[in-house]
Amino acid sequence: MGFDQFRGNATTVNRLREMIARDHLPHAIILTGARGAGKFTLAQMVAKAVNCLERPLAADGLPDFCGVCRNCERISQADELDQRFAEAVEARENLRETDKRETRIFVQTHPEVLIIPPDPPQMLVKVDQVRHVIGEMYYKPGEGRQKFYIFSESNFMKEAANALLKVLEEPPEFATLFLLAENSNSLLPTIRSRCITLRLAPLTAEEIGQDLAMRTEWTAAQKKLVARLCGGAIGRARSFDLAGYLTARKDALLLLTTALGDGGHSALFRATEAYRAGGEGKGKTDLLISVLYSILEDLMFLKAGSEELMRNHDMQAELGNVAGQVSFDWIVRASDGLGEVQNGMRRNLLRSLSLDGYSSSIEI
Ligand SMILES: [Zn+2]
Repeated sequence: MGFDQFRGNATTVNRLREMIARDHLPHAIILTGARGAGKFTLAQMVAKAVNCLERPLAADGLPDFCGVCRNCERISQADELDQRFAEAVEARENLRETDKRETRIFVQTHPEVLIIPPDPPQMLVKVDQVRHVIGEMYYKPGEGRQKFYIFSESNFMKEAANALLKVLEEPPEFATLFLLAENSNSLLPTIRSRCITLRLAPLTAEEIGQDLAMRTEWTAAQKKLVARLCGGAIGRARSFDLAGYLTARKDALLLLTTALGDGGHSALFRATEAYRAGGEGKGKTDLLISVLYSILEDLMFLKAGSEELMRNHDMQAELGNVAGQVSFDWIVRASDGLGEVQNGMRRNLLRSLSLDGYSSSIEI
């Protein structure tokens, strides 16, 4: 238990630990990285290391956290953020209509660590959330050394961003704000200039592979595939729905081969039957579309003679066969067509019809 549980990005992790060692943690830190890169995990680790009652040093001489003291333990209760977030949203749903409108979503399992998720349904940080932060951040910490405010996805409404700017102009000595973002460009330049920015780079397929080594339910080839598909984001690798992906990939390939005249249309209709409208249908269709994009990209790599860049490297033979039948122009047309399917979905066209239409639109 400690920073050694964090995979990769040693430079960024150690920079933060050195700042903790010198008691010089900045008041505002933008931490960027892809979804699943470990931004929230790292912010939580920093909050634990600063507030840990044991404050152990790791073998490398830098600050660590014990993971079991009262502070570490309570902060850890928010490690499963998706779950805590769902609970907070459900609690709000159960309120009376008038209270519901005035209640904003927060996750707090320790008095000095407040997590501010984007507020649903818009999934934006709202001005009331930032006002709540302002209202309490200037009180000295009582049960820890330092206060932490973790904005888990820094998509601010305009008013909220302006309110945040005021905090950043005059932050209290004893508070650190973490702004987690996939891309720091989503933040106002005036906010960026008042923060230090640290980045979590994608991990290599080898690093991800090492992390997945203990997973017994996947074969070595499947682990290699997951490592390629997760784009270097360890959180995505750990929670990867391989069965769902493989099903979507089978359908995606069927859709493409049907368009190329290899398969019967009836097989296609059976496949798209599963992509009917509805909550579950939407998730499945989104996945199918992202798989189609990854296959089209792989076809591009195959045609360019860069097989080593393929994500679906285990399908080199099948995709090589498809690549032999299509032109670069066809791949571009197929990608453009997918964009139109996505637009159609936003307008709520019946999804399976939209997919069948897509398949016939890319016939050669
Ligand atoms: Zn501790």
